[in-house]
Amino acid sequence: MIECPNCGGNLKFYIPLQRMYCKFCDSNFDPYDFDSKEKDGIESKDYETTIFTCPECGGEIESTDNETTGFCPFCGGSTIFYSRLSKEKKPDYVIPFSKTKDDCKEAYMKAAKRAFFLPKEYRDEKYIDGFRGIYMPYWSYDMTQDGPVKIKGKKSHRSGDYIIHEHYDITGNLDCEYDGLSFDASSSFSDDISEKIAPFDVKKEVPFTAGFLSGFYSDRADVSRTLYKSEARAFAVRQTTERIKDEKALSGYSLEVNQNDIKTDINKTSRTLFPVWFMSYRKNDRIAYATVNGQTGKVVADFPVDLRKFFAFAAGLAVVLFLLFNMVFTLKPSTSIVVNGVLSLISLILYLMGTSKIKARENRTDDKGYQSTAEDANPDGQKAHIPDAYVTKKLPIVTSVIAMGLAVLLFISKSIHDEYYYVCNLIIAVLIGFTLISLIKDYNLLITRRLPQFDKKGGDDRA
Ligand SMILES: [Zn+2]
Ligand SMILES: [Zn+2]
Repeated sequence: MIECPNCGGNLKFYIPLQRMYCKFCDSNFDPYDFDSKEKDGIESKDYETTIFTCPECGGEIESTDNETTGFCPFCGGSTIFYSRLSKEKKPDYVIPFSKTKDDCKEAYMKAAKRAFFLPKEYRDEKYIDGFRGIYMPYWSYDMTQDGPVKIKGKKSHRSGDYIIHEHYDITGNLDCEYDGLSFDASSSFSDDISEKIAPFDVKKEVPFTAGFLSGFYSDRADVSRTLYKSEARAFAVRQTTERIKDEKALSGYSLEVNQNDIKTDINKTSRTLFPVWFMSYRKNDRIAYATVNGQTGKVVADFPVDLRKFFAFAAGLAVVLFLLFNMVFTLKPSTSIVVNGVLSLISLILYLMGTSKIKARENRTDDKGYQSTAEDANPDGQKAHIPDAYVTKKLPIVTSVIAMGLAVLLFISKSIHDEYYYVCNLIIAVLIGFTLISLIKDYNLLITRRLPQFDKKGGDDRA
């Protein structure tokens, strides 16, 4: 902890003042006044911190205050944390929190109001009070592209019966600069959230000092600083290519730019802490996260669908539609079977689209940081270890295919018995209902997450 020079109380970073504040003697200080100096007066490269390890999931979080965190932000478990004092390398930069916890709660409530089928416990004040300020580590790359560049261009025009392609080498000089392109440096913080909660305004970043952490937590950078280099380069090439294509002199040409045509130098990689208000909601063996950008107030949250709320709504809608239809025209049985056949096809497509997304999320194949640390933990080069990987369920697919088959058969048979249509429509409705319930259940799987298990190395030094 950082002691108040006047009274020895615990100084915390106070967002409205952007200064260190002592609530005991009501005084405030510049965060940089507390930089730890080595004996010879040179600024220290390390700072002291307490690292908390969650015994349930292995997630690690640190704080300059040594009070315990109460419950784990990653798995939501409320357990006694292992803690150890540690000297850590200072990050290079930090964007201090500028949105207070009240700002954060207000922004969250606004977003929650728009989520129509949200279970009501997600609006519970007790739950919302669980927001905690966590600095998330990012790797930022500063890149330049300069010097001569040669790109292939093509111009096509028609001449009589021929189409003539003209090929050109387009040469020029580049002078581009990309600063602060950032990627999630923590394997605990899901890439999908870290991408959605961006952007942060890196122009507001300031040199790191431990004072900013007081009263907050910070997640640890455990992803290699080189991991995102190729992605950063690819991003820069894409952006530059777009700019080149927009050049007036090149209009009418189609350009073919390869990754290697534009040389991108990464001049500097820095570790930056970005401010995120973070909350987790655990139910049985699933967890949902809600995050608010501590700089801009942007909300990114897992909002599940309450099955009961949804079906109450769907049933209401169905009744209204039915009445409307009956008022306007009478559905002929043979038309209704076509409508139902199309509906079952739609439910099948929805289901297939939904499950492929769930699969990527559940098995975390979409999270590069997680994959890389999992590979480090398995040096034999095995695939990242994922306990009971998600497998697409076959039954909802079978049911909607049967429903479609029924509709097609009956339509082809051109039966004149109305009761066949009624019975079939009923069966199809039940089958579609089953697929939809599976879809919503899976949607809630998609929106919530499996409890994390982090394979952090070096378990022996936990005291
Ligand atoms: Zn004081
Ligand atoms: Zn945990």
